[in-house]
Amino acid sequence: MPRLVRAEPVRFAPSSTIYPELRRRIAEQFRGRSPRGNAAMVMKSAILLVWVGAGWATLVFVPLPGWLALLGCVGLGVACGGLGLNIPHDANHAAYGRRPWVNAVMARVADVLLGASSYMWRVRHNVMHHHTPNIEGHDETISYRGVIRIKPAQPWRPKHRYQAIYVWPLYSIVLLKWFLWDDFKWFASGRMDSYDLEMGRRAKVELVAYKAIWLGYMVVLPAFFHPLGQVLLAFTLTYLVFSLTLVGITQLAHVNGLVSFPEADPGIGDEWIVHQLATTVDFGHSNRLLNWYAGGLNFQIVHHLFPAMCHVHYPELAPIVRRELEARGLRYLYFPTLRAAVRGHCEFLARLGSAP
Ligand SMILES: [Zn+2]
Repeated sequence: MPRLVRAEPVRFAPSSTIYPELRRRIAEQFRGRSPRGNAAMVMKSAILLVWVGAGWATLVFVPLPGWLALLGCVGLGVACGGLGLNIPHDANHAAYGRRPWVNAVMARVADVLLGASSYMWRVRHNVMHHHTPNIEGHDETISYRGVIRIKPAQPWRPKHRYQAIYVWPLYSIVLLKWFLWDDFKWFASGRMDSYDLEMGRRAKVELVAYKAIWLGYMVVLPAFFHPLGQVLLAFTLTYLVFSLTLVGITQLAHVNGLVSFPEADPGIGDEWIVHQLATTVDFGHSNRLLNWYAGGLNFQIVHHLFPAMCHVHYPELAPIVRRELEARGLRYLYFPTLRAAVRGHCEFLARLGSAP
């Protein structure tokens, strides 16, 4: 387990009965059935795995005209986005299956098929992001290091005038940087921001081996069939699209004008569940394509409150959670459509980017 060594732990206000009561209500809903993955999840996983496998094999082994190959890279990038949002995200939260080995195997989809170290994923996402969303210095996913301004307290720079535009190309390169640079940087230093990683020998060997396998079939093997320049172009384009879909969807739920970005010092004034509700937004519940593709990340509030539940259950749970919370006077933040969420993200960035 990683250890927080370079920052004070975030202190929330003492817990009330809100969360235990909500947990009891949700447990009642699942009486007699598992909150983990079901047949729909298995079917979805199969479709995504075949989509990624077929997309990759077509690009490597079938001679295609250039325009069709570029289109194929876009399709493979979208497929990888769906795979990442749906399978390893759930598995790393132990939400995919009831048995630990099922989650361990499905988490490796990130390592072997996508190029992400699932060890680093769990530290960055499960520990840093989920425990302390939107708290600077603790949530690595909002660690923009001055490139994007998300709080009035952060210094304004002239470049921030354009941040609502340049975030999109920026989101497109996040995963290439993460998989090819950050994973190795964290591995070599043994640190991720405020945390000491304390990786065991097996985790270290796995990280290096999986990276080699991933680059082997994404770059080395295709180079036997195509010029290296074309292979690198295809690889880059695929990962730009992959990154834009995955990072874009995750950012919409946490960076907008509805949420807050509390300071950790001298402590969060709210209890944990209230902090989660103040920093997380749902969007587009009635968009069936989004509901299938986004791995439940348009139901982020349910996800943050119950991360060990498989996302296929979120549409059933969201109205219950919303009703229960609103009955206690708490707000359930929500954009009605994907378009409204994108607009909310851009308008917020434009506002924070304009000269103070
Ligand atoms: Zn998560």
